[in-house]
Amino acid sequence: MSILVTGGAGYIGSHVVRLLLERGDQVIVADDISSGVVGRIGQAELVQLDLSSTDAVASLNAAFEKYSVDAVIHLAARKQVGESVLRPEFYFEQNIGGMVNLLTAMQQSKVSKIVFSSSAATYGMPDVVAVSEDLICQPINPYGQTKLIGEWMVANASRAWGLKHASLRYFNVAGAGWPDLADTAVMNLVPIVFKALAENRQPAVFGDDYPTPDGSCVRDYVHVLDLAEAHLAALDYLEREDRQSSVFNVGTGVGSSVFEVLAEIRRVSGIDFETSIEPRRAGDPPRLCADVSRIKKELGWEAKRGLAEIIETAWAARS
Ligand code: UDP
Repeated sequence: MSILVTGGAGYIGSHVVRLLLERGDQVIVADDISSGVVGRIGQAELVQLDLSSTDAVASLNAAFEKYSVDAVIHLAARKQVGESVLRPEFYFEQNIGGMVNLLTAMQQSKVSKIVFSSSAATYGMPDVVAVSEDLICQPINPYGQTKLIGEWMVANASRAWGLKHASLRYFNVAGAGWPDLADTAVMNLVPIVFKALAENRQPAVFGDDYPTPDGSCVRDYVHVLDLAEAHLAALDYLEREDRQSSVFNVGTGVGSSVFEVLAEIRRVSGIDFETSIEPRRAGDPPRLCADVSRIKKELGWEAKRGLAEIIETAWAARS
C-alpha cells in the first residue's frame, strides 16, 4: 500500500512510519517540520507542508497523484493543552483548518481511507473508573475540542462521500520503540521527570490529595510502539466490510499513579530522588483510564507492553 502519514516526523508518527516501512508499504510523510525531525523518517518520502496553509490542498493532491496514495494516517496537529487555552484561534486554524484541507484534497483525489489521531482529551473530566467510547464527550479545553471535531469531520465525510475512517483516542503515550525515536519534547510526565533529574532538581507531583489510592492522579500509560501497532491494525480494519465502530480507545486498561511512575523511574534509573509536592494542576481529572474492550474485540489489538517497559525504553533512549 501507499500511505501518506501527516505528522510522520513527530514522536508518534515516526514510530508509525517505521512500522509501515518494515512491513513493506510505501510511505509519504507530510510534515511542516515545526517539531518533527527529518532524520526520523528513514526511507519515507518527505512532502514538507503546513496543512493549514493556502497551498496545502494543491500540494496534497500532487502528492496523492505522484505516489498513488491509498490511505492517510493523520497525526499532524498542535497538541499542547495549555497553549490551546491561551491561543484557541491558532489551535482551530491548525488542527481544524488543516483537516479541512486534508479532507478536501482526499475527496478531490478519491483517497477514501483515513486513520485519525484523536485523544482521551475528548472525554474531559469523566467520573468513571474506565472510560468507554460510548461515554458522552465533554472536552474541557480547545485541544480536546479540536480532536472531537476532527472525529465529527471524518464521520461527516463518511456520510457525504464515503470516506472510510477510524479515530484512535490515545491515552498517555510514553516510551520509545527505537532509541533514535525518543520523545524529544519535554511536555509530559516522563520526559519532564527525566529533565528534572538531569538538572538535579526534584520532580514535581501536581497534587497528592486526589481521591485515588495514593492521592496522586492516575493515568493509562501506553507504550508508543503498541500505539503505533494500533494504527496498522486500524488501517487493516478499514479494508473490512463488517466494520462496526469508528472510534477506539488506545490504552492498556491499567492505571498508574504519578507516584507509581516515579517509583518505576527510581528503579530503572537507579537514582533515589525526592519529589516536591505541588498544588493540583488546573483541569487534571483524578483518574483517566481506558476501557479497551472495543479495540480488542473489533481490531484484535491489545497493548503488549506495560509501565516497566515504557520507563525502561524511555530511559534508554533519553537524550
Ligand atoms: N504531572 C506531575 N508532574 C509533572 C507533570 C505531570 O505530577 O511535572 C502529572 C499530571 O498532573 C498528570 C500526570 O502527571 O496527572 C500526567 O500528565 P501529562 O501532562 O503527562 O499528561 P496528561 O494526563 O495531562 O495528558
